[in-house]
Amino acid sequence: MKVLVPVKRVLDYNVKPRVKADGSGVDLANVKMSMNPFDEIAIEEAVRLKEKGPVTEVVVVTIGVAKAESDVLLTARAMGADRAILIQTDDEIEPLGVAKLLAKVVEEEQPNLVILGKQAIDDDSNQTGQMLAALLGWSQGTFASKVELGDDRVKVTREIDGGLETVDLKLPAIVTTDLRLNEPRYATLPNIMKAKSKPVAKKTVADYGVDVSPRLTTLKVAEPPKRQAGIKVADVDALVEKLKGMGVAK
Ligand code: AMP
Repeated sequence: MKVLVPVKRVLDYNVKPRVKADGSGVDLANVKMSMNPFDEIAIEEAVRLKEKGPVTEVVVVTIGVAKAESDVLLTARAMGADRAILIQTDDEIEPLGVAKLLAKVVEEEQPNLVILGKQAIDDDSNQTGQMLAALLGWSQGTFASKVELGDDRVKVTREIDGGLETVDLKLPAIVTTDLRLNEPRYATLPNIMKAKSKPVAKKTVADYGVDVSPRLTTLKVAEPPKRQAGIKVADVDALVEKLKGMGVAK
């Protein structure tokens, strides 16, 4: 069985984003970039499924800049992915465009399962997995906190408002990862060294012949408003009075 894991290279989650002076977007010049955290969870799950047995190959794919080969794709291979595909572009492609490219990769690679992150932490779209499922006509189990893979079906426990829902899907299927699915392993230095010899196929967007032109125009990106300084109240009675004044307490 083959698992395909799409990963996105994003601003590292520890870095405080800086908005460009003209408000056109987030400044990515000279800042640390890493694998989207939900995608690390996706790789970890795919590698665990391989370690357990039913899966024989884990293929990772990213659509992004050339540098991804030596950072996120190397990390993914060091974590246990067998090989990588880089679809190189300097453009920021919207989720529908990404889903169309991934659908072509699926056509070529014929995986039994695609595991994506539930969302990329830069655009917070939470769209690509669902769109890919729709384009392929495949079943989907989103926001997975548990994945149990059988011969021709996969059981996915989903984190939904107020509880858990378990769905039983026919393979091939799409799964998107939630935070509690697993704790991803670190890519150790020896594994990073070994991963350098695992193959990376280099492609361009043009190789796939799909329309990835943008449909949205970003009008403005702004920093969140600065928090106002708080005030100190003398005692609990004063606090309750204040809350009443704000309509928070009766
Ligand atoms: P989004 O719909 O943008 O929130 O992204 C959801 C998931 O789609 C991510 O966690 C990745 O697994 C995948 N994805 C999004 N953008 C890319 C990309 N440029 N290359 C590969 N995978 C991507």
